[in-house]
Amino acid sequence: MLKNGCMSCNILSGRTPSPGGVIYENEAWHVDSIQPPVVWKGFLIVKLKRHCEHIAELTPQESLSLGPTLQQTCRALSDVLNPAKIYVCSFGDGVKHIHFWVLPRPPEMRPGMHTVMRHLDMRTALTRFLGLKKWIVPEAEIEQLVVKLKNHPAFQ
Ligand SMILES: [Zn+2]
Repeated sequence: MLKNGCMSCNILSGRTPSPGGVIYENEAWHVDSIQPPVVWKGFLIVKLKRHCEHIAELTPQESLSLGPTLQQTCRALSDVLNPAKIYVCSFGDGVKHIHFWVLPRPPEMRPGMHTVMRHLDMRTALTRFLGLKKWIVPEAEIEQLVVKLKNHPAFQ
């Protein structure tokens, strides 16, 4: 069941297109790029295919397929972008619909959650509120990345 007014549900219903389209989906999970403006190359979202707001409320089937879905997503992203590390996290306070951030840390960026979160926060704020375009990943680049990920053996 999808919920009106939920950003994730709008994406799942097709009302809001994902940049480059769907990367992968199975019975429970859907993988795509984060919505524009994309300020972080390879920032993906793994979202549940029904509206649910608490991980504690996943069905056994949804729980069982979560691990493989995250692993496949990280496998494909690792091979395609060769990041130093991939961060996977779920907050769900802004968009409450269960979703996971899959955020690759490039080798040139200092390791650590604080560094990465500070960079992400700064890029997002300066892009959204001041209109800086420095970090915006062009749509064509996202589409190319999506094609490479979609065709990766991890998802075949
Ligand atoms: Zn939803």
